[in-house]
Amino acid sequence: MLIDLHAHTTASDGTQSPHELVAEAAARGLDVLGLTDHDTTAGWAEGAAAARQNGIMLVPGIEMSCRHQGISIHLLGYLHDPRYPPLVRALAAARDSRQARAERIVAALGRDVPLTMADVRGQASPGATLGRPHIADAMVARGIVGTRDEAFRDYLSTGSPYYARYQAPEVIEAVRLITEAGGVPVMAHPFASSRGPLVSDGVIEAMADAGLAGLEAYHVDHNARQTAHALDLASSLGLFVTGSSDYHGAGKATALAAHWTDPGVLEQIEGDGRATPVVRP
Ligand code: AMP
Ligand code: FE
Ligand code: FE
Ligand code: ZN
Repeated sequence: MLIDLHAHTTASDGTQSPHELVAEAAARGLDVLGLTDHDTTAGWAEGAAAARQNGIMLVPGIEMSCRHQGISIHLLGYLHDPRYPPLVRALAAARDSRQARAERIVAALGRDVPLTMADVRGQASPGATLGRPHIADAMVARGIVGTRDEAFRDYLSTGSPYYARYQAPEVIEAVRLITEAGGVPVMAHPFASSRGPLVSDGVIEAMADAGLAGLEAYHVDHNARQTAHALDLASSLGLFVTGSSDYHGAGKATALAAHWTDPGVLEQIEGDGRATPVVRP
């Protein structure tokens, strides 16, 4: 069983539609794909239809933007109720704040390079959750940089003077929202220090007390030491571990199923998820 539980579509900052993503996953021999766009479930219906058509299992999910004391955290949630009102409200607020934040970043960049919000909107599907990758793609399209990576390195990293934050729920609250919505919360890339500051193990312990179920231990942004730390911490807190590609299509070099998840863990997620069923072909 080849199980990849974290991938993005044009509903957020991936480059493929849900249909294209699911078709590619099936063509590459995956048995199970998790569809986890940033702060939206808008891709679920198209992804589910494509999964049935292409003979692959789909795990509907989300990657929620959260914070703890100014530190950005990504929380994966699986099989929750996408209509749970408090969660719907929190996600809408995060998407709105991402929009305002993109405007702030582009206003700052626009003083030094020829870039406008119209350029950025041109890189995102209507209604997509806006992120820095869309700004990066607009910079590539404008010839300011050659690649997404270069845009992140030179202009968009968390340490850059152009960087701006957005508002997102406190991470303990986000764990509760996913749990109350009948979903299974898993912390994405918990020790990916290349992305910015990390929370301490104590915060992850508090998340576990609030209902966190797993850690994404195997991820392209973890080195061997960071993966080992995730495995140790998961074992001491009684959490399961996942592995996934965090695939974004053509936007990043990582391939689908670059990392994968154990079938026993998928069973646990399926057993704990109480609101939305896994889509079977
Ligand atoms: P944001 O959600 O706006 O804070 O942007 C974070 C997103 O940018 C994540 O989904 C990452 O996958 C993506 N990202 C981070 N670093 C890079 C990079 N060097 N190249 C391409 N995408 C990146
Ligand atoms: Fe992303
Ligand atoms: Fe993430
Ligand atoms: Zn992701």
